[in-house]
Amino acid sequence: MMNAALGPLDYKVPAGMNVEYGQIVIAPLGPRQVTGIVWEEDRLPANSVPEAKLRPLLSAVDVPPIRGELRRLIEWTADYYIAPLAAVARMVIASGGALRGPATMTEYRLSGGMPDRMTPQRERAIAALEGEQATIRELSGLADVSEGVLRGLVNQGALEPVEVDVDRPYTRARHDFDEPDLSDDQRKVSARLVEAVATRKFAPILLDGVTGSGKTETYFEAVAEALKDDRQVLVLLPEIALTEAFLKRFGNRFGAAPVTWHSSLKSTERRRAWRAIASGEAQVVVGARSALFLPYANLGLIVVDEAHEISFKQEDGVRYNARDVAVMRGHFEAIPVILASATPALESLHMATSGTYEKLDLPSRFGGAQMPEIRLVNLTEEQPGRGSWIAAPLRRAMFERLERGEQSLLFLNRRGYAPLTLCRNCGFRFQCPNCSAWLVEHRLSQRLSCHHCGHETATPEKCPECGEPDCLVACGPGVERIADEVAEMLPDARVALVTSDTINTPEKAAQFVAMAEGGAIDVIVGTQLVTKGFHFPELTLVGVIDADLGLEGGDLRAAERTYQQVAQVAGRAGRGAKPGEVLIQTRHPDAPVIAALEAGDRDAFYDAETEARRHAGAPPFGRWAAIIVSAEDDAEAREAANRIGNSRPRLDDVMILGPAPAPLALLRNRYRYRLLLNARRSAELQKVIRQWLGQLDHPPGVRVGVDIDPYSF
Ligand code: ADP
Ligand code: ZN
Repeated sequence: MMNAALGPLDYKVPAGMNVEYGQIVIAPLGPRQVTGIVWEEDRLPANSVPEAKLRPLLSAVDVPPIRGELRRLIEWTADYYIAPLAAVARMVIASGGALRGPATMTEYRLSGGMPDRMTPQRERAIAALEGEQATIRELSGLADVSEGVLRGLVNQGALEPVEVDVDRPYTRARHDFDEPDLSDDQRKVSARLVEAVATRKFAPILLDGVTGSGKTETYFEAVAEALKDDRQVLVLLPEIALTEAFLKRFGNRFGAAPVTWHSSLKSTERRRAWRAIASGEAQVVVGARSALFLPYANLGLIVVDEAHEISFKQEDGVRYNARDVAVMRGHFEAIPVILASATPALESLHMATSGTYEKLDLPSRFGGAQMPEIRLVNLTEEQPGRGSWIAAPLRRAMFERLERGEQSLLFLNRRGYAPLTLCRNCGFRFQCPNCSAWLVEHRLSQRLSCHHCGHETATPEKCPECGEPDCLVACGPGVERIADEVAEMLPDARVALVTSDTINTPEKAAQFVAMAEGGAIDVIVGTQLVTKGFHFPELTLVGVIDADLGLEGGDLRAAERTYQQVAQVAGRAGRGAKPGEVLIQTRHPDAPVIAALEAGDRDAFYDAETEARRHAGAPPFGRWAAIIVSAEDDAEAREAANRIGNSRPRLDDVMILGPAPAPLALLRNRYRYRLLLNARRSAELQKVIRQWLGQLDHPPGVRVGVDIDPYSF
């Protein structure tokens, strides 16, 4: 049996109990009862407990067994990413929340009544819980009060219980709705996608279409085909903010909302979704990367939309890339996997040109909409004034849009007001106590916060070092500061700030989309949240505040990421009848990636980047892996990293660099050191790492993590 915490354990099947592989079972472990999956014996360690000493399983959980296809995917993921099998298995069964338990769960909501005695905490809770319904634990998180306070409100009758039927059915989606009239290009692509679904074979397909070409519209035809065949569909999306617009569109096409899966689901919703997915009742699941490890009963198609997005890469726990695991799941399930993007990752493109993936193209925008015109604003010549980040050409373009009643969008991939705050008097800089990172000022919430560990403090009135009042200066811009500048520059404009701080629930995302579509917003100022998915016909101007931001630092993928981000945000302009214009502010107009963006020459960028990668032995031509060693004690971490470094294998096809302090040398109170491996494609990288690390022991405080195909380092 595979236990989620401990890995493979051996048990006896009691007489009269029927188990099959994949069954979820309850077993005794010491004095406790634990949940596990019945697994093939070949994963048991060799020196197992003798037969006579085995304890019997207690019972089977009443959900369908985890199918062999998913068990193989779990094993592949553990092997490829060098993660414990149990940690991967946990992503499957722990995601069900309460796998066991009653058919109904109790949620609470405000009754409208007031408690006999009001306390400040009770008052705060009541104000925060307007319109909410969830379990006590979830409400406690929402209202930021203890569960005790809420229990008090229940006893006083101010909160009332609501029984929620966990397994209530979802509305059925229909596949026989009117199909849209597809363009010739779209029809060709959708016919092939439909055929791929009907064929029921593994088929990795790169759907490469410019922004606004109708990728979604065409893969909906493939979704309809799967529904017709009564098979399930998984659509992976990079961002929950994107989900709302998608859900609406899906509902219009299929007459029912898909089942959603993401980290902020309530426990009742999570359980309902998990069980409906396992029983086959859930037809289409739209989810974040974790939806990949759900126990679909009969999957017929996987779509990874915006497949180039870096948020598909999980950076803690099991470090996996959902895009790549999706392709593997497609392999084990023998179904097509569609990777849709206007700016595919170089790796995906390479797979297509080398013939491993099939490539389908949508080269032009739907309905005759033109690609926007792109111009550079050279910041070395057009310097905005002090404390300003919007240069004159961009200002003029924004004035024009406002006069014509059209929308503008300004993009800067930096949350908060300013990335660094310092004291004018003594030079003190606010730094995170847990990380090697500056605290970012958030003026809306009046807090300084660390974007790596979440540490927050109220923004002080005076310098904590020298005690001088009114001496703190904000250095550099974040989106909040850009929004302030816009408000000053265009006092009559209605400005929307779109960042994960302001758009942090699906409801807020839906509200924003409705306002932008309804013409209630003149200027959108946003982070990478606005670069994707949105389709606002009145949006005719996109301004990129700082195209050089991503190019700083020695990141291997910096150019690719800059290209993708700017091309994606540019793709928001001119999607309707009116032509779009994009102004890119840069200090490096001659950098190859910026020049390619200006020329609208995607091939030029990919060709140059391909050569650079080939030269560096980087993916897709070679492979990278990182070993990250961390501990709360700096010396302990360094010694462990040195121990690993000193026992490095000497190999021709793997180059090993380091150890060196990791780019974030202190993260969440742990000191971090890193070794980098650069291997030839043919090298058995995982085997090398497993053997190398497997022979070393470290003190209990030391953690050694492996990142295969790392995104940033
Ligand atoms: P992409 O996913 O490639 O960015 P979308 O599928 O979002 O493109 O399409 C862009 C816009 O064009 C959407 O508003 C969509 O509804 C519309 N559209 C695309 N194809 C069609 C079609 N065949 N008929 C009607 N509208 C379409
Ligand atoms: Zn921090």
